[in-house]
Amino acid sequence: MADFERPNIKAMQGYTSGEQPDQQQTIKLNTNENPYPPSPEVDRALAALTGASLRRYPNPTADPLRDALADLHDLDREQIVITHGGDEALRLALTTFVEPGAGFGMAEPSYSLYPVLAAIQDARVVRVNLREDWSLPEDAAVQLNEADVQLTCIVNPHAPSGRLTSADDLRALAETLHGVLLIDEAYVDFVDPELEYSSLDLVRSCDNVLVLRTFSKGYALAGMRLGYLLGNAALIEPIVSKTRDSYNIDHVSQQVGLAAIRDQAYAQAGWRNVRDARAGLAASLGQLGLTSAPSQSNFILVEVPAPHAAESMYQALKARNILVRYFDAEGLRNKLRISIGTAQENAALVDALTDLLTE
Ligand SMILES: *Cc1c(COP(=O)(O)O)cnc(C)c1O
Repeated sequence: MADFERPNIKAMQGYTSGEQPDQQQTIKLNTNENPYPPSPEVDRALAALTGASLRRYPNPTADPLRDALADLHDLDREQIVITHGGDEALRLALTTFVEPGAGFGMAEPSYSLYPVLAAIQDARVVRVNLREDWSLPEDAAVQLNEADVQLTCIVNPHAPSGRLTSADDLRALAETLHGVLLIDEAYVDFVDPELEYSSLDLVRSCDNVLVLRTFSKGYALAGMRLGYLLGNAALIEPIVSKTRDSYNIDHVSQQVGLAAIRDQAYAQAGWRNVRDARAGLAASLGQLGLTSAPSQSNFILVEVPAPHAAESMYQALKARNILVRYFDAEGLRNKLRISIGTAQENAALVDALTDLLTE
């Protein structure tokens, strides 16, 4: 039989999504979804939609949403491109800035979608191993430059650890790198505001920085598929005018996105609840001997103490209808990544782990 598949596609493995079970009663702490529903403004926007409003094509570049986000971040419309989830933003950055065969940089471990997207582009993946505390090594930029990397993705706060790298450290990295630095801020909404972390100054002052944001986590809209990139207008322009799908954001998503960001008070109250629950859960699990590194995200990475094994703990929780994430990967095999749930869900998890550890 003829084989039409490109060799790089043939050779690659696809992305494995977290489990999405059908049963409503599952306590789902495995894919970092927001534990709370989106703003009531989102329900109102959905209720106001009509079939007739879908007859015409949507605003091609989602300009009302770009303008609302420009307002929110104090940037210009030209510094923003709206994407079909953060994942499309990553794919577009690769398509636009990485030639086939050229280098794509990432930290190891981090988001397992990065190497999948790099393989689709037939890019060469260059991995920088993180240190014991999940920080980047001093010579990260040197390693990446020596490997001729054209684009580097750094998730901040880091996944799966939740560690936050300072904006100063990211600036130093951006200023040393020869290629583009994409700071993946999928979880930035959950950072403690007292830390005053912001990468927006880098967006304004560096010509090689892109920042990824998503509505999936902070705005509880993972089912909608809405994200965006912030960056220097010269980085954003080719994505808006060339590599993006025409009409990549449907009318429904544009309306819902606008409603969600308008209700900042609701979103921020949710982020605060998640931060409080995060501290509570880390403390409760710590008392059980399950320690975790400090997290600025909506999940914690918990170390399972010997003689218990993380994988069997994952299985035992699953048997009790509680899903968490286990990674069969270097440095992660004795750990579980646990998303912050509602107060009830977190309590059920603590109860189940108390049982399992004393069995
Ligand atoms: C969730 C996530 C994204 C983007 O997800 P979308 O649902 O496609 O917006 C990007 N990077 C990381 C590290 C994530 O966890």
